Amino acid sequence: MKQRLALLGSTGSIGCQTLDIVRRRPEEFEITTLTAGSRWESLVLQAREFQPDSVVIADERYYENVREALAGEPIKVYAGSEALSQVVTGGEVDTVVNALVGYAGLMPTVSAIKKSKKIALANKETLVVAGELVMRLAEQHRAPILPIDSEHSAIFQCLIGERAPLRRLIITCSGGSLRDLPIEALKDVTPEQALKHPQWTMGAKITIDSSTLVNKGFEVIEAAWLFGLDADKISVLIHPQSVIHSMVEFEDGAIKAQLGTPDMHMPISFALMYPQRAQRDEHFSFADNPTLTFAEVDRVKYPALDIAYHCLRSGGTAACTMNGANEVAVAAFLAHKCGYLDIVRTIEYALDRAENIKKPTLEDYAAADLESRRLAREFLKIKE
Ligand code: NAD
Ligand code: MG
Repeated sequence: MKQRLALLGSTGSIGCQTLDIVRRRPEEFEITTLTAGSRWESLVLQAREFQPDSVVIADERYYENVREALAGEPIKVYAGSEALSQVVTGGEVDTVVNALVGYAGLMPTVSAIKKSKKIALANKETLVVAGELVMRLAEQHRAPILPIDSEHSAIFQCLIGERAPLRRLIITCSGGSLRDLPIEALKDVTPEQALKHPQWTMGAKITIDSSTLVNKGFEVIEAAWLFGLDADKISVLIHPQSVIHSMVEFEDGAIKAQLGTPDMHMPISFALMYPQRAQRDEHFSFADNPTLTFAEVDRVKYPALDIAYHCLRSGGTAACTMNGANEVAVAAFLAHKCGYLDIVRTIEYALDRAENIKKPTLEDYAAADLESRRLAREFLKIKE
């Protein structure tokens, strides 16, 4: 039986790499649904190639374009964000690959969990925003969540077969695109500069998040929920070569690490195929990578990391607020509407003013998200 995938965010960086894997293994995978935000032309090309049952274009303005372009194909076309939550629930779907970016990923994950689907999760914002609720639902509905994020895939791989208590997780961090820039220069950073990541080619939002270390902060929160650990047991270590994808330290002092070439195809295929592994041509050469280096994070240059730890410790809707404010600020920065340092300032402004709702429901998260966006726009003095 082929594994039938609903791929959300198919036109993005993770989405396209997931399709590379499917393209190479037609005997193992079948695509039931493809979805895109607004890049309708790419969605149409993908639909023609993979012949899913349905496609969703989240941006409703392009519905007619997609419908007309696929008129001759036996493919249902839907539009709007609610359709994302519907297409994941069908009986023909085995696995939902959530490669959406941002808060938009939350509701489809929740819908898929409620139908006990397997979730291959790239959309870390799902767990940042609502980790408490999402993990509770996943347990209730016995929906497995397999991480695609490379650090979490590494930790997951290190934990296979282990029962002993952990001393800590060590999440590695490349340091992002501005790693070698002195702190004084950050105020003048342009989007173009921040978008040049030394190790990974990714979507724009996560590349900016990597440069501020908001991404690493989010990964700490993601790890806390996925692996059920307190903030104190999760540490972050700068490792510029990105060869060690993360590590686990056990109570006896043993440390396990997962290593390899930085390439997202590996964690994506592991999430899809676990407990099997894919046959891949990749051969890592230690001789060609003789130097692996490590350093502590500069907490003054990267205040976002401690803000994320603070949100994790506060619980409730704090991390949801951090996420919403960050989304607005990153979009504004990419559109040249604010400076680089305004990203973290926006997060701080929103966190200082937003109410932290404890034991939040899904509606509470939605309200906190809206409020954080309103606060962020207020700080940045931008309109909707
Ligand atoms: P991307 O920007 O390249 O792609 C995002 C996809 O989501 C696109 O298909 C886009 O059309 C769609 N989309 C965007 N906004 C949407 C909306 N509001 N409604 C519906 N669809 C929408 O992003 P990416 O780099 O592929 O990252 C996706 C997720 O994976 C993020 O959560 C990111 O943090 C995580 N992640 C990415 C990488 C990577 O290497 N790219 C690594 C680890 C984790
Ligand atoms: Mg990562």
